[in-house]
Amino acid sequence: MLSPGDAAEVARFYRYVVKGPSPRDCFWWVGSIGDDAYGRYWVKRDGRQRVVRPHRYALALALGRPLADNEYALHEVCDNPLCVRAWGEPGTADRPHVVVGTQAQNLAGMGAKGRGGGRTPPWHRSEIDRAGRVARSRRARDALRNGWDAEALHSALLSTYEPTLF
Ligand SMILES: [Zn+2]
Repeated sequence: MLSPGDAAEVARFYRYVVKGPSPRDCFWWVGSIGDDAYGRYWVKRDGRQRVVRPHRYALALALGRPLADNEYALHEVCDNPLCVRAWGEPGTADRPHVVVGTQAQNLAGMGAKGRGGGRTPPWHRSEIDRAGRVARSRRARDALRNGWDAEALHSALLSTYEPTLF
């Protein structure tokens, strides 16, 4: 993965991050969102546009180095694709939500959460479920675009509830 960029690029990144007030709250990415429900952050390297997932970018920032090819950014606490809480706030014992993991941990987490390949129950593999996750991400992003708003976020998450296909 590419290394973190200059101070202006990092400052621009943080402008797309809205922090919930409690240690359990996520730090929400409110920029672009792709069709996998994860964010997209565009940066320039060697004169070319590159796109990165914000939770990976945030983790590289927190570590102060690029992620290695065999390192994954795992949502350990929240399973929220938009969460970029890869660091504890200074002066607190807050636990990061995004941590470094291996591919095996990544796959195990996806299985446990009902996503990804082989061991996933079939009712979790549908495109509806995927579309539901994207819609959920976009509504949450829209609810928080102008800053933290717990009520707007709550109703955005409720209004996009997608029942699974039993
Ligand atoms: Zn989180």
